[in-house]
Amino acid sequence: MEETRVVQGTWDISTFKFRIEGVGLRRMLDGMKEGKLVGTRCHKCGTVYLPGPFYCRKCHIEINEPTEVSDHGEIMTYTIGYADVRGNPLDEPRIAPVVKLDGCDSWIMGVLQGVKPEDVHVGMRVKVQWAEERTGSLQDMAYYVPE
Ligand SMILES: [Zn+2]
Repeated sequence: MEETRVVQGTWDISTFKFRIEGVGLRRMLDGMKEGKLVGTRCHKCGTVYLPGPFYCRKCHIEINEPTEVSDHGEIMTYTIGYADVRGNPLDEPRIAPVVKLDGCDSWIMGVLQGVKPEDVHVGMRVKVQWAEERTGSLQDMAYYVPE
């Protein structure tokens, strides 16, 4: 059964930092420069991750098998932001979906454009809009658009 929950509130994440390391991220960024998404597949259970961790989260073994993932996928969940991280209202709402790309088992977040907030839904098909000039950074995957 699907259920949609609305959580009202303000979350200050302006000081949030994260770091991803390892061969999986390097592999993903190198692939993105070529307009491809390259994850890592577990040789035991077949689970595909993007970006690839150095171990399978199910089998707890080292993994290092490059696997290309589609740049098309499905929205698994999303949020709609009406303010920036400092609480300043945005001119346009920002839609941030979490997408399960075809051929990948992990989900990856991004920004969705080309659709009104009221038209977004779980299960919606989207594709990656690549940056015109790719540099091997996370910005190469500019945003998602409806398929
Ligand atoms: Zn595994």
